[in-house]
Amino acid sequence: MTIREILIHPDDHLREVAREVTFPLSDDVKQLIQDLADTMYDAPGVGLASTQIGVPLRVAVTDILWRSEEVRHNADEPGGLRDLKVWINPEFLWKSDEMVTWEEGCLSVPEYYADVARPAAVRLRWFDAEGTRHESDFEGFQAVALQHEFDHLDGKLFIDYLSMLRRNMITKKLKKLYKS
Ligand SMILES: [Zn+2]
Repeated sequence: MTIREILIHPDDHLREVAREVTFPLSDDVKQLIQDLADTMYDAPGVGLASTQIGVPLRVAVTDILWRSEEVRHNADEPGGLRDLKVWINPEFLWKSDEMVTWEEGCLSVPEYYADVARPAAVRLRWFDAEGTRHESDFEGFQAVALQHEFDHLDGKLFIDYLSMLRRNMITKKLKKLYKS
């Protein structure tokens, strides 16, 4: 099990636009997927994009069950729940005009949460680790989580949707807290 370091805003690598992955997956990319999952569960988080560990490839993992503290607490018990999803080269084919607002947070922007409005429903095309193409519609928390994760692959963070004043305040505080 390899836990990778999660980059914290304002790290320039978080602003990189990630490249598409080619199939069949190289051993490095297979290892990357495993590391992403291990790192996400360890954090713990409900999603992690490659960009967040400094690898600019279009790969992300999610497990929206991990929103629940009870699920996280019991994950390693018999009957513990996990629903790991791997998203490779994801692409939104459609987004609804209807918007929905959720309070978002991010492992790369620790300790800050803010309301962000995003399309309430999306249609997504993506590939799984075997290279099989999928297409499906998502709504609710899942739709929001996917938009948040795939923003990372384009070098975008949820704080980009906030006012410049609020964003600058968060950047300043994180710089002070995490300065190495
Ligand atoms: Zn994030």
